[in-house]
Amino acid sequence: AYRADEDYDYLFKIVLIGDSGVGKSNILSRFTKNEFCVLSKSTIGVEFATRSIRVDDKVLKAQIWDTAGQERYRSITSAYYRGAVGALLVYDVTRHSTFENVEKWFKEIRDHTDNKIVVMVVGNKADLNHLRAVSVEDARTFAARERTFFMETSALDSTNIENAFTELLTQIYHVVS
Ligand code: GDP
Ligand code: MG
Repeated sequence: AYRADEDYDYLFKIVLIGDSGVGKSNILSRFTKNEFCVLSKSTIGVEFATRSIRVDDKVLKAQIWDTAGQERYRSITSAYYRGAVGALLVYDVTRHSTFENVEKWFKEIRDHTDNKIVVMVVGNKADLNHLRAVSVEDARTFAARERTFFMETSALDSTNIENAFTELLTQIYHVVS
């Protein structure tokens, strides 16, 4: 049957969270525009971008929010989290401190959102394997303990970007439907 482009069954707000420089904005542009930017443009944040995917016979529209660099000062406001049903919590596999901070971001998500929020922990920059500072095993252990989802991605070479969002949206869909 014909469906207009803008037609969707569910609209899900997703927030991107994690330390500055881990690749949040590039994950978003890779998923929504298939674009990657070598230069970091931390101050030119879009508010959000959207993309729809199909799961079963439903169209799930993701409205994905990005920060404009506020994460640098841990000053993300509650408005950012309001209404979010999913979060992609990103660290950089080449910077261990960004992984250590995942726990703090977790707490921040919990403090600001409904406890049904679906969180996926994402280790980005997996293309830089020679510079790796966080093992897959450590990340898996952490994710299992927090009962959350985990995936390594690369916004640069596109590894798992589609998979991460598809998995997150599918899990959210299972929670709400
Ligand atoms: P944000 O501050 O979390 O939004 O991070 P950005 O998306 O601005 O990315 C910070 C820097 O990391 C930029 O120079 C990007 O080009 C780079 N970057 C982002 N994702 C990847 C990736 O998957 N692999 C590599 N090698 N670099 C990346
Ligand atoms: Mg950014």
